[in-house]
Amino acid sequence: MKLPENKAASHQRHALSAQHPILGAAGPEHLHACLPRAADKTAPAISTTPSSTPSPAPSSPASGAPAPPTLQDQQERLDAALAISQIGIWRLELDTGAISFDRQAAAMFGLAADAVSNDEQFLALIHTAERAAFAGSLARIRDGGGALDIEHRLHRGPGWLHSRARLRNTGAAAPAVLFGASVDISARKLAELALRDSAQHYKALIMACSHALYRMNADMSEMHVLEGKNMNIVADCDGRNWLQKLVHPDDRPQLALACAQALQNGSAIEFEHRVRVLGGGWGWVASRAVPLRDEAGVITEWLGMATDINDRKQTEENLWWRANFDVLTGLPNRSLFHDRLNYEIKKAQRSAQQLALLFIDLDRFKEVNDLLGHAVGDRLLVEASLRINACVRQSDTVARLGGDEFTAILTDLGELSHVENTAQKIIAALVEPFRLDDEEIYLSASVGITLYASDAKNADDLIRNADQAMYAAKNAGRNQFSYFTPGMQQQAHKRLRMISDLRNALHDGQLEVHFQPVVALASGAISKAEALLRWRHPRHGLIEPTVFIPYAEDSGLINDIGDWVFEQAALCAQRCSRRLGRAFQISVNRSPVQFRTRPTQLNWSAYLGRLGLPGSSITVEITEGVLLHASAAVTDSLLQYHDAGLEVAIDDFGTGYSSMAYLKKFPIDYLKIDQSFIHDMHRNSADRAIVKAMIVMAHELDLRVVAEGIETREQQRLLIDSGCDFGQGFLFSRAVPAREFESGLGLRH
Ligand code: C2E
Ligand code: MG
Ligand code: MG
Repeated sequence: MKLPENKAASHQRHALSAQHPILGAAGPEHLHACLPRAADKTAPAISTTPSSTPSPAPSSPASGAPAPPTLQDQQERLDAALAISQIGIWRLELDTGAISFDRQAAAMFGLAADAVSNDEQFLALIHTAERAAFAGSLARIRDGGGALDIEHRLHRGPGWLHSRARLRNTGAAAPAVLFGASVDISARKLAELALRDSAQHYKALIMACSHALYRMNADMSEMHVLEGKNMNIVADCDGRNWLQKLVHPDDRPQLALACAQALQNGSAIEFEHRVRVLGGGWGWVASRAVPLRDEAGVITEWLGMATDINDRKQTEENLWWRANFDVLTGLPNRSLFHDRLNYEIKKAQRSAQQLALLFIDLDRFKEVNDLLGHAVGDRLLVEASLRINACVRQSDTVARLGGDEFTAILTDLGELSHVENTAQKIIAALVEPFRLDDEEIYLSASVGITLYASDAKNADDLIRNADQAMYAAKNAGRNQFSYFTPGMQQQAHKRLRMISDLRNALHDGQLEVHFQPVVALASGAISKAEALLRWRHPRHGLIEPTVFIPYAEDSGLINDIGDWVFEQAALCAQRCSRRLGRAFQISVNRSPVQFRTRPTQLNWSAYLGRLGLPGSSITVEITEGVLLHASAAVTDSLLQYHDAGLEVAIDDFGTGYSSMAYLKKFPIDYLKIDQSFIHDMHRNSADRAIVKAMIVMAHELDLRVVAEGIETREQQRLLIDSGCDFGQGFLFSRAVPAREFESGLGLRH
């Protein structure tokens, strides 16, 4: 459709066209006339040209009925209405394509002089993005259907117009005319765009921060996840029953309560809970929802944000685990054990039931740990914890209190025999050899048992009782259990007092070293001696080492005491050597505890050097256990002794593992046959045979043999007959103070 152009009219129409209002330079008040009425015969109603026709006289109120408005009145009203509503009107003749604009429309479309006179030029004004839609609407109208209603931009400039047009047939003969009205909607569009931008920014922010966004209706009965993809929150959880569909069952009751409270108070709701995530798992979120209200203050909906706190929860969980569980064995630790014990006591109280508390201590574990190293010790503890756990019921609690101390809380006892059976099962399980790599390690356990409510009614007392009962089991020979009795309490007090007294004994000069001669059996001459410790207690008199050495070992005091004994032995050896004019050897007992390296320990060979004594002046007596679980520290010490000329004896041979294998592995010089074999030799042929065999084997291995505890001439004779090298016993002499011993030197027995 090509429309003839009326250039003159067009020129006139646009001659005073205003600046483009959407570009912001001019407002509607700057608009000028654009459509001279002469050129717009068919549209007198939309002409905005002020009329020069004088107004008719206003109707006189006195004349009664109001006079009908004049054409000028109507025109003025229309002009005013159009100016106020800021609507621009345009008119398009469909047949000819001629187009005309009123002032406001011309300003809106940014029409310059002679710019637009037909529909093609008009379309060129429309932004290319909306032009096709605009043209399509016009074409449809022309074909007899629809209307034009479109938001569009102009080809030039960033502004937006909302244009609407409708066909108006002025009569069958008259050409079809399209009346269009356009409004500047730039401000709204800008606001919308800004809103969209900020929404997008907000969304991007949420995505970047791993947040999820949701919305709930006023009574929280419905929930919609607006954005949860970045947290993998399941998408099909929207709507009703969100609590059931989305929230972890354990968190539902509390969350429902928090929701009810928030609804009641109209306050924000904050909660940490687990939500269902894609893949079927649960994820932790910190959720916060705030109410949105209308002008009247009534809540219309809730807007909420959920933050991913999985990492924090994981850290918290780890910390909690570390605070309550033993890292090595995975068992509850001391702290959780206390909680459980208190809890079980309350439960037993309510149900009038008994409960048993067992303290389990691995016998000689410290020895193994020191000798074989901590890595082996750790593996033993893990294995021991598994064995103990396997002996109790699911409802019982096994905990590790530290070191080699375990505890078990046995509940729902029913029969008391169950406690004893369990204790026995635990002892039997721990006495089985532990196989680590190629090594077989032998342990045992001492178990102390106390009962709620017969022995004590609170946790602290029960713990103290079980501990004392455990010590009683140890003192009774280990590898057994013991029930708590009131007598144990006294023993425990005694033990603590002993340790405290022993602490001062060394400084206060209460300790003495006595010497017992060791005789060369063939000649009967005193060949050497053993240094044996005595404690002259100010109140209790002379105390045997078998009584107090275990306390010294438990408390660590054995280190200082042991070094002091060695010094006394070395000084005695020095005096004896001078007196005899030849080297004289003295044996010193060394506890396994003394093989643990520590910074202040005395270097024995260096000390001998300072006294001008050869290394062979001292024999170090160790027990079989030290060799059986020899750690690097033990091996090093033995090699150092060997290099320095000190000799090494295996004490109490036959009472422990009695393995000959290690005798070959280490630089050993003497075997001391335990006195229990000597004691019955004269009347027990089996003992006799064993002693004989030990002597033969020792000689085969190039070791010399000392028989301990010789009390009779018959024992002496049997040992001489068996080829034993040395003898020690009351037959020759008891252990006596240094002065006495030294004065008897040179005697023959
Ligand atoms: P032991 O090293 O086997 O010492 C021998 C023990 O047998 C001594 O007991 C000694 O008095 C005793 N004895 C010697 N001959 C006879 C006898 O004919 N008949 C009987 N019935 N007993 C005899 P003692 O002095 O009571 O020492 C006991 C244990 O205490 C020692 O056994 C040793 O293991 C330990 N001990 C003693 N002094 C020390 C020390 O300074 N350090 C360490 N770590 N342990 C020590
Ligand atoms: Mg000894
Ligand atoms: Mg001995």
